[in-house]
Amino acid sequence: MPTNAALFDSARAIIPGGVDSPVRAFGSVGGTPRFIVSASGARVRDAEGAELVDLVGSWGPALLGHAHPEVVAAVQEAAARGLSFGAPTQGETLLAQEVARRVPAVQKVRFVSTGTEATMTAVRLARGATGRDLVVKFAGCYHGHSDGLLAEAGSGVATGGLPGSAGVPQAVAAQTIVLPYNDVEALRACFQARGEQIAAVICEGAAANMGVVPPARGFNAEIRRITAEHGALMILDEVLTGFRVGPAGWWGLEAVEGWSIEAPTAAHRWPASTQEAAWVPDLLTFGKVVGGGMPLAAVGGRAEIMDLLAPLGPVYQAGTLSGHPLATAAGLATLQLADDAVYAAVESASQQIASTVSQALSAQGVEHRVQWAGSLFSIMFGAGTAAGVADYEAARAQETWRHAPFFHAFLEGGVALPPSVFEAWFVSAAHGPAELEVIAAAAPKAARAAAQA
Ligand code: PMP
Repeated sequence: MPTNAALFDSARAIIPGGVDSPVRAFGSVGGTPRFIVSASGARVRDAEGAELVDLVGSWGPALLGHAHPEVVAAVQEAAARGLSFGAPTQGETLLAQEVARRVPAVQKVRFVSTGTEATMTAVRLARGATGRDLVVKFAGCYHGHSDGLLAEAGSGVATGGLPGSAGVPQAVAAQTIVLPYNDVEALRACFQARGEQIAAVICEGAAANMGVVPPARGFNAEIRRITAEHGALMILDEVLTGFRVGPAGWWGLEAVEGWSIEAPTAAHRWPASTQEAAWVPDLLTFGKVVGGGMPLAAVGGRAEIMDLLAPLGPVYQAGTLSGHPLATAAGLATLQLADDAVYAAVESASQQIASTVSQALSAQGVEHRVQWAGSLFSIMFGAGTAAGVADYEAARAQETWRHAPFFHAFLEGGVALPPSVFEAWFVSAAHGPAELEVIAAAAPKAARAAAQA
């Protein structure tokens, strides 16, 4: 097997940057990305045979860990019956029922292949339903790479320090209003000025693409209140948080269980109806965990809005591979396995990992903050983060340069962190004591590297 470096050279010669998604290229941390050959549980193995404790988790899907035997068996069983048909299969209905059972805010759901398509479809539905054009998003939130949603986006756009993307027509960009996250006053003022032109506000359940930035208490509820008052829709983007932070996603955690950064609790309730919720979005988008590691995402919500989709209604959306049989099999197997014990395990592993790393940083005098949203966390550097990071401006103002040496020291110690300071750390139910030991052993050196940066 060629080395990681040789594989990267070959890849770069034929694939732009050597990768099919920018952050994988190690642009902000430097060095050679590991080419992964296989993965199991909480570990990945690279082309040179190095085994790494994985805190990327395929960027979210791997809630149960990699290659869970029951998920793999479900996919194999489906594959043996044929790969895709371009005709309806029962698996789609079963997965749709499971999504709605967990998230009663979802009355109807349609499956697509990527989170990008899910949010794109949600926005189109909102415009179709309201007859309005403008969409409000928040700086630092990422909703995929569709033209209208790239303005001041998080994730790889933040990592690359980009304001947006070339190739987005001015006329399209002008349909998106970008506001600071967690700023209710800005939202109120925006609706005061242009409320009757706004089709929707789209927000992440909890922002996790500028590092983890939880919504201030009442922020999401206020989005709901203001949009309803002005006849606009609320789109809750749970592509990252959905089925990861709890059985009913962020909505379940915040609107049903009352989680807030000031009072974090996670009983992992399975809401039986929207009556239990303090607020209910019109549309929700899902991805990552819902596909169990296969290309699958979803848009769901109120039936009368969802029924505007073709073939019932005038809002068009389609996909050759939408609701793919292997992906629905993986998603259904994953959700059936994701019980209370799984959520408790992810939470406990997350807390142990974060506290181990945080203690190592403190021991080296590195000022930092662990930012939490349910079981999701990321680490931000610098004294300026001490009181909490609430928006993109503050997230960008942290001591970002500490991440690269910190990241590489961890990598040498056998731990793969997300290769960007603007991404959440993804922990799975398969992260156990052995993985914690590897992390604890690597942490002091990584903390020293961060201190010296
Ligand atoms: N929304 C959110 C909140 C996301 O985190 C992501 C991906 N990280 C997307 C949408 C886009 O999903 P995909 O990469 O599957 O297109």
